[in-house]
Amino acid sequence: MGDPKSKPEKSGNLLHRSKGLRLELSGIQEEETFHEWVVELEMFRDCPEPIPLKGAVKAEGSIYKSGTTVYFTAQAQGAFDLVCSRCARDFEAPFKAAVNAIFLPRKEEPGAPVSEEDAGEVETAYYDGETVDLFLPLRDQVTLAEPMRPLCMEDCKGLCPRCGADWNEAACDCSDTSGDPRFAELKKLFNTKEG
Ligand SMILES: [Zn+2]
Ligand SMILES: [Zn+2]
Repeated sequence: MGDPKSKPEKSGNLLHRSKGLRLELSGIQEEETFHEWVVELEMFRDCPEPIPLKGAVKAEGSIYKSGTTVYFTAQAQGAFDLVCSRCARDFEAPFKAAVNAIFLPRKEEPGAPVSEEDAGEVETAYYDGETVDLFLPLRDQVTLAEPMRPLCMEDCKGLCPRCGADWNEAACDCSDTSGDPRFAELKKLFNTKEG
């Protein structure tokens, strides 16, 4: 993120830098237009479920309309501020989320025009009046991108349940099984048998 080279090249003036995610229906064209959005952290503050975002979410995508139906696709990316479920350390986890949504005017029957092959991948959203709010489907996908059991790394060794040492840093004495009193007893037994 932040590297201008990582941005896809869009021909000419097609890539619009858009601030808001609320668009007037009349301003959405029938021809697909490409946009880049920066959704500030502030926008996510009122979410019903708090999302542990590290900062703003960037999204690149396109939008077009056909009649009163609006089609929105975007790739969102950002980073979560997470706590490892094994070792409790804070870490930053970049994420990407694909957003595919169809907006219908609220008055239409819910769900009706979603084609079967799209079901499950395309979110149906509704707009009131003349304003289409792209934020909700974006927020939904960002929420889904958050891991249920965050791990700072795939093979995080976690903490010693006895002394709390971070096994990613170093092994503690407790992890040496000879230090386990029960194991010492067993050892004694074996030694007497053999000796
Ligand atoms: Zn960890
Ligand atoms: Zn230990």
